[in-house]
Amino acid sequence: MQTNFTLAQLAEPDIETANEILRKCVHCGFCIATCPTYVTLGDELDSPRGRIYLIKDMLESGAPVSDKVVKHVDRCLSCLSCMTTCPASVDYMHLVDLTRARIAKTYKRAISDKLIRKALALVLPYPNSFRTALLVAWFAKPFAKFLPSILSSMLKLAPKKISNPSSIDRPQTIQAKKPKIKRIALLTGCAQQVLNPVINEATVRLLTRHGCEVVIADGMGCCGALVHHMGLEDESHEQAKNNIIAWEKVRKTGGLDAIVINASGCGTTVKDYGYMFRNDPDWAERAAVISNLTKDVTEIMYDIGFTRIHKEASNLRVAYHSACSMQHGQKLKTQPKALLQLAGFDVYEPNEGHLCCGSAGTYNILQPELATKLRDRKVSNLNKLDVDVVATGNMGCQLQISSGMAEMGGVPVVHTVELLDWASGGPKPASLC
Ligand code: SF4
Ligand code: SF4
Repeated sequence: MQTNFTLAQLAEPDIETANEILRKCVHCGFCIATCPTYVTLGDELDSPRGRIYLIKDMLESGAPVSDKVVKHVDRCLSCLSCMTTCPASVDYMHLVDLTRARIAKTYKRAISDKLIRKALALVLPYPNSFRTALLVAWFAKPFAKFLPSILSSMLKLAPKKISNPSSIDRPQTIQAKKPKIKRIALLTGCAQQVLNPVINEATVRLLTRHGCEVVIADGMGCCGALVHHMGLEDESHEQAKNNIIAWEKVRKTGGLDAIVINASGCGTTVKDYGYMFRNDPDWAERAAVISNLTKDVTEIMYDIGFTRIHKEASNLRVAYHSACSMQHGQKLKTQPKALLQLAGFDVYEPNEGHLCCGSAGTYNILQPELATKLRDRKVSNLNKLDVDVVATGNMGCQLQISSGMAEMGGVPVVHTVELLDWASGGPKPASLC
């Protein structure tokens, strides 16, 4: 694609980056058919190519961000399906990231939209605040139908039961249950540890049983993805820096073979810390070291080798839902399925497996109608498989698909590590009992 930036514009690092990305696009349109928003809405402006043109025109003209650009960029899920399809390796992810940051810095949103985004940024990344907000939501749930659609969709996503904090989610070192082969740091996340603490518990059992010493680093917190996807660059960088410092301390005091992440959305972000700080001389190298150490839990388990103990899992029919951040963001397609098969499960994949379920961080809160359409499409594809359980490696997808299964009828949805933990000697997932 030809671009027409002036030399003065190209002196701005973001424009220089955008220019490099835009020039790679050959406007072939292959990405359009695999974009969930285009497939749902049928509007070229809600396709990757359409958004690329909108962003190009906005940046070249130097005009303020328009309502039209915001509307179509807000509708993008950042699912990155377009990047998997693109034959020219266009880096859409970083193009839309820098556009979101520009929108956040310069565009005046409606006050209600601004308040919701502010509340999400202040609450979701902090487990104590989020727990308190969920208690308030629990009392407000009966009034959901009287509230605006964004607020009622937030309330619908609030769980029926709020779990107590898990003993796993505090700074500590958990010894390997057999001779140690690796020392790893586990990202315990933010919203996940509140909404489904079982995931971290199953992850720790699985890893320690397979010879990993697990460190829960002091000072670690949210990976920054939630605010990053809302374009809040300063906040996401602050959260990333906290984690870099926390994991550097672990590395200096006993070594570190890997940083393990059990939420693929967070994994995609931490693996991108190196890029995030590429222009910051104080942080670039440190961030790159952390990104290079980062692995999804299924990546590390695949490397170590899975030991199956429990035979009860045999022949259970499992539908594997590959989160967009897993298949498109991290390009991890074989490991999770191979591990489930090694664990003795019969694994199936749904039609349209490349399409997003509509969860996408805070997307199901900020774009509830589109998110629900995508969710229902995903659930009906999964239900055609006639399986006993759905497994996925991202808690956002787990919640989103579970809510669809609850409304449309269907099977339980668990995290992949819950099944791997069970098959290697851990407890059966509660939803399968
Ligand atoms: S597939 Fe790639 S090169 Fe083709 S239009 Fe989409 S982004 Fe551009
Ligand atoms: S990230 Fe997903 S929703 Fe956004 S343009 Fe690409 S395929 Fe479409």
